[in-house]
Amino acid sequence: MASTSRTNHDARDLLWTPSDSLKDANRRRIIRAVMLDPSSTQVNIARITGLSQATVSTVVSELQEEKIFRVDSGGGERGKRIRLGAVRGLAVGIEVNHTGLTVAARRVDTPRVESDTVDFSADQGGRIWVSESVRLIKELARKTGLDEDHIVSIGLGVPAAVDPRTALVTQVASSLEWNLGGDPRERFHEHFPGVPIIIDNEANLAAYGEYAFGVGKGDAGKNVETMLFVKASTGIGSGLIIGGLIYRGRHGLAGELGHLTMDPTGTVCRCGNRGCLETLVGGARLVEQVRQAYSGYRIDLPTGLESMIEKAKGGDQVCGRVLHDAGRNIGLALARVCNLLNPEIIVLGGELGRASELLIEPAEQSLRLYALRGMLDHPDPTRIMGSQLGLLAGAQGALGFALKADVTVGV
Ligand SMILES: [Zn+2]
Repeated sequence: MASTSRTNHDARDLLWTPSDSLKDANRRRIIRAVMLDPSSTQVNIARITGLSQATVSTVVSELQEEKIFRVDSGGGERGKRIRLGAVRGLAVGIEVNHTGLTVAARRVDTPRVESDTVDFSADQGGRIWVSESVRLIKELARKTGLDEDHIVSIGLGVPAAVDPRTALVTQVASSLEWNLGGDPRERFHEHFPGVPIIIDNEANLAAYGEYAFGVGKGDAGKNVETMLFVKASTGIGSGLIIGGLIYRGRHGLAGELGHLTMDPTGTVCRCGNRGCLETLVGGARLVEQVRQAYSGYRIDLPTGLESMIEKAKGGDQVCGRVLHDAGRNIGLALARVCNLLNPEIIVLGGELGRASELLIEPAEQSLRLYALRGMLDHPDPTRIMGSQLGLLAGAQGALGFALKADVTVGV
């Protein structure tokens, strides 16, 4: 006797089948919302999709009947947990940096994320970043029990500004020592034919990751509305979430926190301007300050940002002081952003995010000195917080952002 209860639905059929009808579009949005949050409620689905409770309720019932959704019994109608039934599909996110990349993959029916990172030398990047991404995607897909034929979408975060209207790269970081080349999405088509690829700046997608799955996901799944995510590593980038959307600006250059002028007479920056925040608190600059302080002494010097942070945590006063001052300078830059945007939370991520317990206090001191009091002396003040997803924020954000986007054909 044939059983229909265990029928496996192919997520690609559910999301990719072309249709112009509004009803089908609503259905896809609701399925995507549950894939994004595999333990959702009707209230959350309505909030994420912008659809009415009545529409959500009708579509959820239909999808339950088709065994695409499972709805927990018990609890009020609105609070019931909605999960996917037997649906096979894989969502993928890639974060590409100057000297490495991270891939995250998740079955659309579970919250469990598989991820892996590879490092490469700066001069290798252009040659191997696509092949390494493809290799990791295939490896991680197998770990989930699926394969690359189940991929429904790929989010791609690149160290470049991306034009929000054309999805083409408008400005590559001047320090990137390899060529991203034309439309980076095209290089994945032969490997994953037909799979929609959504591209954005990697700090924007890290901001989205922290917003959707990290500290931005407030109590009861109610995300914050306005968030600034600071990605502080060798360079200082940031991503802005305003009203739940990534704010990119006309040329995709919004949020370039690292190039805020802090001292017009300061050091020339890699961007060609002078006295940018990055010339004060970029990773290499911080390590250089420690080396300078210890020059001439037989002291085990930090080899990079990570070891410097470890030393500071272990009580090294020079490393501690350099990070303290970095926190103050970052805070001064943040105060300017706060007076312009009044965000709900500021998240410190990237490699420096590992030192957030050392940076937050001096950064908050600067906010107290330079940001308007109304946002700090409020019962629900603007807060600076450490990242929850750490170095996975970018790949997870890319995964989630592409999964949410209602793109039905490969681009
Ligand atoms: Zn600059």
